[in-house]
Amino acid sequence: MKIELRKRVIDYLCYQADIGYETLYKQERMGFLFGTIHNKDIRITKAVFYKGGKKGRTGITYNPDDFVKRGRQLASLFKKRWLGAYHTHVEETGKISFGFSREDKRSFMSEPTLAEIVVAVRSSRGAQVSSSGRRRLLITKKFGKTSYRYILSGYVKIKKNLRLVKTTMVRSK
Ligand SMILES: [Zn+2]
Repeated sequence: MKIELRKRVIDYLCYQADIGYETLYKQERMGFLFGTIHNKDIRITKAVFYKGGKKGRTGITYNPDDFVKRGRQLASLFKKRWLGAYHTHVEETGKISFGFSREDKRSFMSEPTLAEIVVAVRSSRGAQVSSSGRRRLLITKKFGKTSYRYILSGYVKIKKNLRLVKTTMVRSK
């Protein structure tokens, strides 16, 4: 089982992380993931930002019922399957937190989603990212003199367990 992300979905997720990273005092951002499942592999073809909730530097406070309602609404609007959510990590304390926090795990397990992507962003102005394992997807982008590094970690619910699965990029389809 793996999570495949369309290139333009990745671009969108990185862009979402950038916005939060460049916001004064920084801001985590979140949204929905839509797509298909092929032979147990999850293919994400669309990502949409969630406007609700209070987005802070180290977390987002939101109403889970409203979030689920909006996810279902968007799925029927786009005629796509709602498969999961994404959120970004932007905290800057000399060390990047690229995986799930305890709070992330708790909210993910309580929601009717299958997958979640954490997008951690770091600029070359900040501390460096250390090793992140083979399952995570690493992206680097350059904007002028600053380069940004993104670590995408994909989690899937398997029965009642949480698993970090391989996240890859697909060009089209
Ligand atoms: Zn988180």
